[in-house]
Amino acid sequence: MSGQPLRLAAIDLGAVRHNVAAVKALVGDDTQVMAVVKANGYGHGAVEVARAAVSAGATWLGVADIDEAVRLREAGLTEPILAWLHGTEATFDVALRHGIDVGVSSVAQLDAVAGAAQRRDAAAGAARVQLKVDTGLGRNGAAEGQWAAVFARAAQLQSAGVIEVVGLFSHLSNANDDEDRQQLSRLDDAVARARGAGLDPAIIHLAATAATLRLPETRLSLVRLGIGMYGLSPFDDRTSADLGLRPAMRLEGRVIAVKRVEADSGVSYGYTYRTAAASTLALVGLGYADGVPRLGSNRAPAWIDGQVYRVSGRIAMDQFVVDVHDGDVAVGDRVVLFGDPADGYPAVEQWAEAAETINYEIVTRIGPRFERRYTS
Ligand SMILES: *Cc1c(COP(=O)(O)O)cnc(C)c1O
Repeated sequence: MSGQPLRLAAIDLGAVRHNVAAVKALVGDDTQVMAVVKANGYGHGAVEVARAAVSAGATWLGVADIDEAVRLREAGLTEPILAWLHGTEATFDVALRHGIDVGVSSVAQLDAVAGAAQRRDAAAGAARVQLKVDTGLGRNGAAEGQWAAVFARAAQLQSAGVIEVVGLFSHLSNANDDEDRQQLSRLDDAVARARGAGLDPAIIHLAATAATLRLPETRLSLVRLGIGMYGLSPFDDRTSADLGLRPAMRLEGRVIAVKRVEADSGVSYGYTYRTAAASTLALVGLGYADGVPRLGSNRAPAWIDGQVYRVSGRIAMDQFVVDVHDGDVAVGDRVVLFGDPADGYPAVEQWAEAAETINYEIVTRIGPRFERRYTS
């Protein structure tokens, strides 16, 4: 179908470039920027965002799993890529074949990477590994009690020419600045212990967007920039504009029917909404199957023709209704759920608040029926 799609995620790659350039300017020349494009670029399209980020100065790409990394390679991206989350069936052979750095959190994973390295042509050289340590998040990464074993095994495999430990990293809890500073000092300790074991990881990293912006001492060799690259704030108390960032996604639907109803008309399943007066109802062709959260029912905003209304009644699988009162709305009109507030659109955070979640979840959950269109 040509023309305007029923479900549109309009992605502004100019905003992505602006955000990367802003963070690059902030962190300075001694710190590299890794563009984190896991989960299909937080719903924005991994390949397109990665290209835009690289053109604006990002020198690394970061993803959760190896399949995501391979897709970037297959799209022609040649920058260094780190993948840090692996299931037990992880295909390290594939990672090595595509020149992907693997983040490793255990001796078992080290051995699996070593096995993959030994299966390939000796001329291919050592497998590039970055060791992930848990400094307090309690999630992925080697627990402190395992550091000695992981570092010893890594040093042994490195001396044998099987792997090369190029980096060491961790991830913060963002619980508060004090906790994050304690994690930084535990990371320093891990680096010292890795050196003591005979390793010399060149790339040390810790900060994602929040710490990059708020705790300069955590910037180290590189920062892993996710949400901020998409122009969104990781903080409850600061907006995109406060941070000098531009939201890259505008999420649109269409008015697909309009009807005039009497006062006290029930709207959508369960009649959780009734019109207060004779009203015009606009039907929008988006629903929870598209990732539009049902918790937004009767709460979340919808922009139509320059006016911001509220979702009226329950959001259904494929559609929801907006009571536009006496507004002049026609079939085919654009409906913007969220975009850049600087353009007058609701902020994604309003949807996040309505759905009792965070902006990260709203953009990453965008469903496959959305068509993504890119502008630069
Ligand atoms: C997702 C992720 C990031 C990016 O986090 P943002 O808060 O989006 O910047 C960085 N590092 C790791 C390990 C991650 O999983």
